[in-house]
Amino acid sequence: LRRQNQILEEKVKERTRELQYQAEHDMLTGLSNRYRFVKVVDEALQLQQQQTSAKFAIYMIDLNRFKEINDGLGHFAGDRVLQATAIRLRASCAPHHSCARWGGDEFVVLQRNVTDESDIVAFANKLLNNLRQTIQLEGGQVLVDASVGVSICPDHGGSAPVLLEHADIALYRAKCADNQAAKNHLAVYQASWGSAAAKRLHLAQELRQAIETGELEVALQPFINSQDEELVGFEARARWRKPGGIQVSPADFIPLAEECRLMPDLGSYILREACESLISLAPDSDLRVAVNVSVSQLLDPEFQKQVLLTLSELELSPNRLELEITENVFAGNVEQIKAVLSDLKNRGIRIAIDDFGTGYSSISYLQHFPVDTLKIDRSFVSALNDGGEPLYCSILSLAHSLELHTIVEGVETNEEYRKVLTLGGDEIQGYYFSKPMFLEEAREWLQQLSSPIKQAAER
Ligand code: C2E
Ligand code: CA
Ligand code: CA
Repeated sequence: LRRQNQILEEKVKERTRELQYQAEHDMLTGLSNRYRFVKVVDEALQLQQQQTSAKFAIYMIDLNRFKEINDGLGHFAGDRVLQATAIRLRASCAPHHSCARWGGDEFVVLQRNVTDESDIVAFANKLLNNLRQTIQLEGGQVLVDASVGVSICPDHGGSAPVLLEHADIALYRAKCADNQAAKNHLAVYQASWGSAAAKRLHLAQELRQAIETGELEVALQPFINSQDEELVGFEARARWRKPGGIQVSPADFIPLAEECRLMPDLGSYILREACESLISLAPDSDLRVAVNVSVSQLLDPEFQKQVLLTLSELELSPNRLELEITENVFAGNVEQIKAVLSDLKNRGIRIAIDDFGTGYSSISYLQHFPVDTLKIDRSFVSALNDGGEPLYCSILSLAHSLELHTIVEGVETNEEYRKVLTLGGDEIQGYYFSKPMFLEEAREWLQQLSSPIKQAAER
C-alpha cells in the first residue's frame, strides 16, 4: 500500500510540474509566456530595489507585417515563422537575459545589469539583425524582420505594468512612420514624449487590434440618380466602435493608420466589408458600392491584386465597385498611381475623385487620368444658400467638358436638393436622404424604400 501511495504521489507531483510548466510557457514556441515574464520582471525589480545600481532593460519586439504572412500564407505558415523567430531570439540571449512570447507576434526580453544606453542600442541592434531572416516555408520563402521598443528601469518606471507599457509605446514609436526611430525599427522610451503622444500611440495599438479582431465596420450612405430619383448605390465609410460604445471618427483613425503603417490592412479589410455588405443588401442588382482609398494604398504593390482577388472571391462584378480617391494623388508619384488605376478601370471598376474642388485640382492632370466620376464637395452645396450658384455651375460645366459623371455630396435640406435638381448633377448624396448606416439599419432603410425619395422631394 505504501508503495502504491508513493507511486501515486509521484504521479501527482509530475502532473503538478506539468501543469505549472504549461501555465508558464507558450506551447507553440516553448518560450516563457506573458505570465511568467511579468514574474521575472517583478524579481528584477526586487533586486533593483536592493541594489540601486542594478539597472535593467525591457525589450518589446514585434514582427513587421506578420499579419500579411498569416493571412496570405495561412496560420500554419504563421506558426512556423513564430517558431523560427523564437529559436533566433533564444540564440540571441545570454544568461543575463530572459525572453518570452508576449502574445501574437510580440516577444519580450529582459536584460539585467545594464550600465548605459549604448549597451542597450547595441543589444537591440543585435536582436534586429538576428531576427531578420528568410524563412523557408512549403509555399516559398518569406523575409521576416522586426521592430523593437525599449524601456529602462528605474529611469522609465518602477513597476512591471509601467515598464511594459513604456516599452510598448517605444515599440509603436519604432513602427510608426516619419521619424528616425521608424527607419531604424528601434526606439528607446523617452519621458519627454509626453502623455498626448503616449495616448496616440496607445490608440494606434488599439486600432491594430481592432483591425485584427474585426472591430471595424463600414457605414453605408446611399446616393441616388437625379433623373429618376432611384437608388444607385452606397458609399462605404470606415467606422470604429470600441468596446464600451466609444466611437472614434475616421477623421482621427485614418490618419493614425497612415502614420503607423496600418493602412494596407485597414484598407483591404474595409474593401472586403464594403463588398460583402453590398452583396448582403442587394445581391442581384446593379447597385454599386463606393470605397474610399488613400494614396498610400494606391502605392502599395499589393493593392491591385487585393482588389481583384476580393472581387473574384466574392463573385462581385467589377462595375459594381467604385474607388474614391482624393486629389492628393496628383501631388505624389502620379505615374505609378495612374498605371494601377488604368488597369483597374480597364477591368470595369469605376474611379471617382472625392471632395473635388477642395484640393490640388489640375485640369491638365484630370484630362489624362483614368477617372469616371467627380464627387463635388459639400462646400459647393452649402454655398448654394449663399450666392454660390455661379461657382457650382462652373464646376459642373468643367465636369461635363471632361465628359465625367458627377456625384453631388452633402445635400442636407430640401432647398438644397431642389436647387441641385435644377442646376444639374448626375447623382446626389447627403443627410437629406440618409446618414451613413450600419448594415442592419441600411437593410431596414432599403425595405422601407418604396420610392420614398420621390415622395420626400414632393413634400
Ligand atoms: P468623405 O469620403 O468625403 O466622406 C464625407 C463625410 O461627410 C463623411 O464623414 C460623411 O458621414 C459626411 N457626410 C455625408 N453626407 C453629409 C451631409 O449631408 N452633411 C454633412 N455635414 N456631412 C455629411 P465621415 O464618415 O466621418 O468620413 C470622413 C472622412 O474620412 C471621409 O470623407 C474620408 O475622407 C475618410 N474616410 C472614411 N472612411 C474611409 C475609408 O474607409 N478609407 C479611407 N481612406 N478614408 C475614409
Ligand atoms: Ca468619400
Ligand atoms: Ca467627399
